[in-house]
Amino acid sequence: MAKKQFKAESKRLLDLMIHSIYTHKEIFLRELISNASDAIDKLYFRSLTDSSVGLNREDFEIKLAVDQDKRLLTVSDNGCGMTKEELENNLGVIANSGSFGFKNEHKDQNDIEIIGQFGVGFYSAFMVSSKVTVISRAFGSDEAYRWESAGADGYTIEPCEKEHFGTDIILTIKEDAEGETFGEFLETYRITSIVKKYSDYIRYPITMDVEHE
Ligand code: ADP
Ligand code: MG
Repeated sequence: MAKKQFKAESKRLLDLMIHSIYTHKEIFLRELISNASDAIDKLYFRSLTDSSVGLNREDFEIKLAVDQDKRLLTVSDNGCGMTKEELENNLGVIANSGSFGFKNEHKDQNDIEIIGQFGVGFYSAFMVSSKVTVISRAFGSDEAYRWESAGADGYTIEPCEKEHFGTDIILTIKEDAEGETFGEFLETYRITSIVKKYSDYIRYPITMDVEHE
C-alpha cells in the first residue's frame, strides 16, 4: 500500500515535533485527552437533540492503557470517531488543525516559543513516539480504518476491524536515547500525575488499564 506524503506545512510541524528538544514533552497527553474529550462532546451534544443516538452522558469515557513490554500507550475514546476521509483530512493536513496557526511569520521562533504559544495538537504525539497508530470508527458506520505514521516519511490508511465506534490513539513510545528518556511515559504514576496536572478539568471519566508494572 502506498505511503501518502504529508502536506508541506504539516511536514514542517512534524519535523519540529520529532526533533523537539522541548522540555515539556508530557503535554502530548493533554493534547490527546483534549481531542478525545472534543470527540465525545461532539457525539454527546448530538445525543441531546437526536434520540436515535441512544447514548447517555454516563456512557462516555476516556481510557488510557499501557503495555510496558510493547512500549505502547493508548488513549481511547468512545466519541464520534472518524471516517476514512476525516482521518485523511484531519490528521494528514495540519491546516485543518484548529489549534495551530503554523505560518511563515513563526519561522524565526524556536520550538519552545512555538509550542508555548499554540496548542500543538495531535502531532505533539511524535515528540514521544516512534510510531503513531490511529484506529477509528465513525459513529453510525460499520467501517473502521487504521491511520499509521512513523513520522516524516508519510502515513498509511487501511481498513481494519474495530468493535466499537470511537478512536484509539496508540503510541509506540520511543526507546530511551542518550540524554533523553521516554520510559517515564509508560509508568502509571507518571501518567497519572500528568493527567492530574493538565486534564483535571475534563468532564468525562479518565480510567487506566495496566498490562505490566
Ligand atoms: P484541534 O484539536 O485543535 O482541532 P488537533 O491537531 O489536536 O487539532 O486535531 C486535529 C483534528 O483531528 C481534530 O480537529 C479532529 O477533527 C481530529 N481528531 C483528533 N483526535 C480525534 C479523536 N480522538 N476523535 C475524533 N477526531 C479526532
Ligand atoms: Mg486538539
